[in-house]
Amino acid sequence: MTLGADVSALSTTAASAAAQGLSIVVPLHNEAAGLAGLHGRLIGLARTLKGRYGLASEVVYVDDGSTDATLAIARALAAEALDIQVVSLSRNFGKEAALMAGLDHARRGAVLFMDGDGQHPPDLVEKLVAHWIDDGYDVVYTAKANRDNESFLRRQAVHGFYALINWGARQKIPEDAGDFRLLSPRAVAALRQLPERNRFFKGLASWIGFRQIRVDYEPAPRAHGVTTFSPGRLIGLSIEGLTSFSVAPLRFASLFGVLLAAGAFLFGLTIVWETWTTGKQVPGYPSLVVGLMTIGGVQLIMIGIVGEYIGKILSELKARPIYFVAEHAEKRADAEQAPGETERTAAE
Ligand code: UDP
Ligand code: MG
Repeated sequence: MTLGADVSALSTTAASAAAQGLSIVVPLHNEAAGLAGLHGRLIGLARTLKGRYGLASEVVYVDDGSTDATLAIARALAAEALDIQVVSLSRNFGKEAALMAGLDHARRGAVLFMDGDGQHPPDLVEKLVAHWIDDGYDVVYTAKANRDNESFLRRQAVHGFYALINWGARQKIPEDAGDFRLLSPRAVAALRQLPERNRFFKGLASWIGFRQIRVDYEPAPRAHGVTTFSPGRLIGLSIEGLTSFSVAPLRFASLFGVLLAAGAFLFGLTIVWETWTTGKQVPGYPSLVVGLMTIGGVQLIMIGIVGEYIGKILSELKARPIYFVAEHAEKRADAEQAPGETERTAAE
């Protein structure tokens, strides 16, 4: 028995890559207004990819508990030029769970993750695919070219988050990397083998290694509606990501404890020294209260951090499914084609 996993059999060459095809995973949460438009662009994309590489594609729409007409619209989409799967989750499980569901249902070799709100331009996909097929990269991830439209505070927070999560890490998670990324068949296989329930895709996709490349892009404005990630939810997600991916906060806690203890020790020494040399009584009261509050506060924070990890252990231990699929529909592209048209079979 080996304790690692060999996915070398899934390595692709430019010739074999096209035969394995591409699955496009799109999580949808209340995206009814833009879905038809997005699908139209994906059909165009599928045609381009087929023409250029002979690459067959499918799209996996994961309806993450939408309360609008998203599911009905997704079901009615035409399977033109690409296969369609519509996976409907039993409730809103969150984007990471939706991505997981899409990954589990993807049938083609490579997987592309793309938001359903039009912010990830389908036109860029051609470039991502070229990096995979022509250049042999396994993880093609995208990063926002600039964050000019974000507030200074938010940028600093993002910076701090990555500094903490990458602290002491061997494989750094690239800052600014988004969920818009392409994974080669062997990278997909590696990602599927990770056993944990608390997924932090950005981190894991970087952790698996292989040949990675960054592509900068300018995210389009949201096609409609507003982002579902409020500052509160983003903070929650950051804590999720941090605690499921790195023990940096725990190390930070220990280090901070050591520093505090060392400081207290030095302070104690100076008091002893002063009493000795000058015989002066230390006034004491304010410094005592400050010291007490500092230590009390720090201890509470640290207990909270440890608690986060215990919560993680609990949820991994319970081993609940990450999502439930309430409905699964699929349409093959060839089912809709006129007799005699062999667009799909020609590519396989
Ligand atoms: N999304 C999801 N489940 C959720 C929230 C969001 O599947 O609980 C999807 C959403 O439909 C979109 C993508 O995740 O396709 C990104 O969401 P959003 O645009 O709100 O986030 P942002 O682009 O602001 O990071
Ligand atoms: Mg968005």
